[in-house]
Amino acid sequence: MSSPLEKTDSPLVEKLGHAMNRIHVAMRADSWDAFGANDLNPTQGQIALLLGRRSSGLRLSEIADELAVSSPTVSDSVAALVEKGLVKKDKAKDDGRAVAVRLTAAGKRMIKRLDLIGGTIGSVISRLPHSEQVQLYKTLIRMVRELQLDGRIPISRMCVTCRYFRPNAHKDPKRPHHCEFVNVAFGDRTIRVDCPDHEPAEEHIANQNCKVFSG
Ligand code: SF4
Repeated sequence: MSSPLEKTDSPLVEKLGHAMNRIHVAMRADSWDAFGANDLNPTQGQIALLLGRRSSGLRLSEIADELAVSSPTVSDSVAALVEKGLVKKDKAKDDGRAVAVRLTAAGKRMIKRLDLIGGTIGSVISRLPHSEQVQLYKTLIRMVRELQLDGRIPISRMCVTCRYFRPNAHKDPKRPHHCEFVNVAFGDRTIRVDCPDHEPAEEHIANQNCKVFSG
């Protein structure tokens, strides 16, 4: 017989969604504090953080794709960042006729401050046992992949969608995966979610890799 608590219980999916919403509130407050302290609005802050992970620079259209925002919004935000001296526009390295946006030296210094400030969630995660951190990371990677498949977020440069990724290719439980790009074995905690060397795998291979990765 079920208890009164179980009779009035909400679906687990609903409770998980509510818990994630609480975390989202904390993360958003962190971002607002960090960006506001550096005189940036949230879109400008996200663009600066993205450029911090792409030293070779990005075109305006690539920034719009990666952050899932409109081209005019990116254009206005980059213009504001140029005005503040945090980014500059140069020739793209792979095409001299195209323009790429990069951080200036002042922008790189500012990124370090943003990384230091946005630490509330990092501090909470660091209190979890290591095994729980790794499991959480794996679960989040699977959720990101599902969101991509549903078209809710742009494709991330994650190992699980990379043509060089060979999940569970080795017997060593500490380093079961293989990256053919650098030809090394690695473990779950080293899986990347924004790798500069990522090249997309064909859709059916990415799906298969995700299944194998998830066990
Ligand atoms: S190239 Fe990067 S994304 Fe691809 S498998 Fe290797 S580490 Fe992962």
